Amino acid sequence: MDRKAKYESKIKKHVMVVDDESINRQMLGYIVSQDYEVTYAENGKEALELIKAQKKMLSLILLDILMPVMDGFELLKELKSDEELKKIPVIVLTSEESAEVKSLELGAADFIKKPYDMPEVILARINRIIELAEGRDIIKATERDNLTGLYNREFFYEYAHHLDQYYGDWSMDAVVMNVEHFQLINELHGRQFGDQVLKSVADMIRMILSSDTDGYACRYEADVFYIYCRHLGDYEKLQGQLSKWINELSNEQGIRVRMGVYPQVDRSISIEQRFDRARLACNNGRNKYMQPVTYYDAKAHENSLFSQKLIGDIGDAIENKQLKVYYQPKYNIKGDKPVLTSCEALVRWDHPEYGLISPGQFIPLFEHNGLIQLVDHFVWEEAAKQVRKWKDEIGRAVPVSVNVSRLDLYDPDFETGMVTLLVSNNLDSSDYLLEITESAYAEDTTQVVEVVNRLRDQGFKIEMDDFGSGYSSLNMVSELPLDVLKLDMRFIKNIHTDKKAYRLIELIMEIADFLQVAVVAEGVEFEEQYKLLKEAGCDVIQGFYFSKPLPASEFEKLLIEE
Ligand code: C2E
Ligand code: CA
Ligand code: CA
Repeated sequence: MDRKAKYESKIKKHVMVVDDESINRQMLGYIVSQDYEVTYAENGKEALELIKAQKKMLSLILLDILMPVMDGFELLKELKSDEELKKIPVIVLTSEESAEVKSLELGAADFIKKPYDMPEVILARINRIIELAEGRDIIKATERDNLTGLYNREFFYEYAHHLDQYYGDWSMDAVVMNVEHFQLINELHGRQFGDQVLKSVADMIRMILSSDTDGYACRYEADVFYIYCRHLGDYEKLQGQLSKWINELSNEQGIRVRMGVYPQVDRSISIEQRFDRARLACNNGRNKYMQPVTYYDAKAHENSLFSQKLIGDIGDAIENKQLKVYYQPKYNIKGDKPVLTSCEALVRWDHPEYGLISPGQFIPLFEHNGLIQLVDHFVWEEAAKQVRKWKDEIGRAVPVSVNVSRLDLYDPDFETGMVTLLVSNNLDSSDYLLEITESAYAEDTTQVVEVVNRLRDQGFKIEMDDFGSGYSSLNMVSELPLDVLKLDMRFIKNIHTDKKAYRLIELIMEIADFLQVAVVAEGVEFEEQYKLLKEAGCDVIQGFYFSKPLPASEFEKLLIEE
C-alpha cells in the first residue's frame, strides 16, 4: 500500500453487524474489522436503538434476516420509513435465495451469501456499496487537487466532517501551513520549481499523516495547506523536520513553511471557523518576526471580537447618548493653597452590555479607522454645552480642555468647526483648551505646526499632552507652537521614591522655563508627589490625589464649593 493510501485507510468508517448467532457475528466481524470499525447487535430491536444513536457515523449495516425479537425484514422496514435512517445502506446476510426478492423490495442494497466464503469478496462488496452511497454527496473525479494529490477544499471539509462524526471522542487539531515567500520562490526559480516545492510539502504532509497522527489534508489555495488531524504535541519539532526535508528535496536552503495551529479544537463551532482560527494564528506568526509555529490564542481572539463589537456599536452609542463626559479638575499650585483652574473632559462609554468602559479600551481602536472623530466631536460639543450651562446656572465655570486626536488635525474643517462650536455656545476661546498628544506632532510636523499656529491665532491655548512619552526630540520641542507642557504620567510615578526620577522633573522644569511654557503634571496620586512637584516649580496638577474624573453633576459641586 503506498503512503497515500495508508494514511487514508487509518481513518476507519463504521459498519454494524446485526446477527443473532454469536459465531456469525464473530466471523463476519473478523473480516470486516480489517477495514472498518465494527459495532454489533443481536437482534433488530437492539440494532434499531444503536442505529438511531449512531446514525451520523454509520456507513453501512450488515443485516441477518432470521432473528428473534425483531427480524431483519421488520428492521429494514423501520429503517426505510425514516428520512434519515433510510440513507444508510443495508446489505442483507442470507442463505435463502427466496429472501432476496423481498429484501430488494424493502430497499436493501445488496446481499452476502451465507456461509461466508472469500473475505476479499465480502470486503469488496461492502466497499462498493459504501462508495455508491457516498457517491450521492461526493463525486470522486474532482476530489483531488491535480498538482499535489491532496484533497481540494470542499472534499476536505466533507471528510473532516465525516471524521468528526466517526470519531467524536478524538481530540483534534486544525493546522494551517503556509510556504513562506512563495511568490518570491516562483519568481526567482520559476513556476516549475514552485510546483515542486508544493508537491514536496504535500508529500511531507502525507508522511506526517501516516506516521505521526491520523487525519486529512488539503491544498486550500496556492501555497496554503489545511490539515485536520488528531492532536499532536510538538509542532515545533515537526516544523523543523519539515523545513529540513523540504530544503533537502528542493536542493535549496532557506525555504520555510510556517504553521498556525488551533490545538484541541472546540467542536461546537464549524469546521470552517476552526480553520479560521488556525489561519489567524498563522497570519499572526508572520507578524511576529516570522515565528515558525504560532498557536491560536483564545484571549487575543476574544479581544479582537470585543474590538469588532465596539466598532460596530459606536454609531448607535453616540446616537443614544451612551457616551458620557467626565471632568477631572486641574489645580494651580503656585500659591499657598491649590486653586481649581480648569478641567479635562474625558469620555466614558456606558455600554448596554458591558457597563462603563474606559476610553483606553476604545479610543485606540477608533484611531485606526477614523471613528475617533465621531467621538471627539461628541465630546467637544458636550463639553462646550456644559461650560455654557455652568456659566448660566451657577454663574461660574473653569476652562475645559478637550483631547484632540491626530486625525482631527488633518481634517480640513477642524478649525472652522472649533470656532463654530464656540460661537454657537457663546463662549470665548479662553474657555477652551486643546490637548494635543506629543506623538501627533511627530508625524507630519510641518502640517501640524501650521494647524496649531492657526488655532493659536484664534486664541486657543495648546497643551502638549503626554510630553516625554518618547516621540519628540528636545530640539523639536523648542520649535513647536505650544502653551503648556503636560508631562507624561510615567515621569511622576516614582518621583517620591527615586532620586533620579525627581532630578528628571527638575530638568524638565528648566526646559519649560527656557521655552517659557507652563507645566501640568498629571497622574499625581500621593501627597509626596504633590509636594515635590510644587518644590520643583510645577504650575498645575491633575490627579487622583485631588480628584478622579467626575460626572458633570459632581464636578459642579466642586465649582460651587470653591
Ligand atoms: P490622557 O489624555 O492622558 O488622560 C489622562 C488619563 O489619566 C485619564 O484616563 C485619567 O482618568 C487618568 N488619570 C488622571 N489622574 C490619574 C491618576 O492620578 N492616576 C492614574 N493612574 N490615572 C489618572 P482615562 O480617562 O482613562 O483616559 C485615557 C486616555 O483616553 C486619555 O489619556 C486620552 O488619551 C484618551 N481620551 C479620553 N477621552 C478622550 C476623548 O474625548 N477624545 C480623545 N481623542 N481621547 C480621549
Ligand atoms: Ca489628555
Ligand atoms: Ca496625558
